[in-house]
Amino acid sequence: MARPPIIITNTLLFSLSGVVALVAVPWYGMSHGYDIWQWGSFLLLFCLSGLSITAGYHRLWSHKAYKAHPVLQGLFAFGGALALQNSALHWAADHRRHHRHVDDNDKDPYSAERGFWYSHIGWMLREYQGEAYGDYSNVRDLHNNSVVAFQHRHYLMLALGANLGLPLLLGLWHGDLLGMLLLAGVLRMVMTHHTTFFINSLAHIWGSQPYTDRNSARDNGILAFFTFGEGYHNFHHLFEHDYRNGIHWWQFDPTKWLIRLASWCGLAADLRSAPEERIELARLEMQLKRAQAQLCKQDDRELWQALLQEEYAKLSQQLQHYYASRKRLLELRKRKALARYDRLKLQLEYRSLRDGFITGKRNWSRLLAGITTRAA
Ligand SMILES: [Zn+2]
Ligand SMILES: [Zn+2]
Repeated sequence: MARPPIIITNTLLFSLSGVVALVAVPWYGMSHGYDIWQWGSFLLLFCLSGLSITAGYHRLWSHKAYKAHPVLQGLFAFGGALALQNSALHWAADHRRHHRHVDDNDKDPYSAERGFWYSHIGWMLREYQGEAYGDYSNVRDLHNNSVVAFQHRHYLMLALGANLGLPLLLGLWHGDLLGMLLLAGVLRMVMTHHTTFFINSLAHIWGSQPYTDRNSARDNGILAFFTFGEGYHNFHHLFEHDYRNGIHWWQFDPTKWLIRLASWCGLAADLRSAPEERIELARLEMQLKRAQAQLCKQDDRELWQALLQEEYAKLSQQLQHYYASRKRLLELRKRKALARYDRLKLQLEYRSLRDGFITGKRNWSRLLAGITTRAA
């Protein structure tokens, strides 16, 4: 079958910028050197363009994980143009298709099932899904957003202005025009491109699947470090409206921190997060699946399977009771006029359910460890 026609603009853009970043940037560095101001400008623009994609294009506009003040939206629209990854409207349309049809080779624009190269960059080099290009029917909500609409209408001007104008101005201020264009212009753009593209490629290939194995998305702390926290992609594909990707405090997710900071400053509101019990249940279900797979090859698997099933049923029930009691307590706390007796009764019930759940989790971990040791 004939391959779809090449998209000349994209192919030229990615290959030429790649060559400049790989050859001209180090050559200029060795012959002239870059100083701290140039590296500082590189880092500043890298963060501006990268975070505009992750916090703006992705979590705000594609997933509506929170609401943002028009000032913040304007900054993301500018930073997104600087990232040179098409308009927010176009990006969000592709991304919503990706979530809806994940791993479907005909409908997912960057299906990881088609391999690393295709999902990383190949999908943009040829007109693979030409019929979907310009189909914005899944982003109707964004048509009414004046910031998104403005950016879409004036995208080319904004993208050129940001990518040439900004490094040019910085170069004039600094004195070394070419050095600044190479570092804060080209190298920064190439780095922003590929770190974002890694989410579509590597984050669907390399890493763990703690929450779901119904799609190829993976959690990967190393990737999260280079992608402003987007490496926790397995969690994200299951809970896509959550403003966080790394849900634990120790997980590196600067996009989450930025959104939180913006909410403290009054620039963001209505931060959405998935209910804790649903997250815990998803993790539990995956642990069960994995343990069952480990037992598959054992001779006395039926005995173990029964024990595993029994403990799973017990723990998932404990989990639901614990969270329901916690919810009741939190709701009643808001109603100040609660009788002392009722409050105490609820607190005692909550504590005993919490302790039961903690013990249940400990037993469950022991059982899983036992199964892993047997399988080894
Ligand atoms: Zn994905
Ligand atoms: Zn997403």
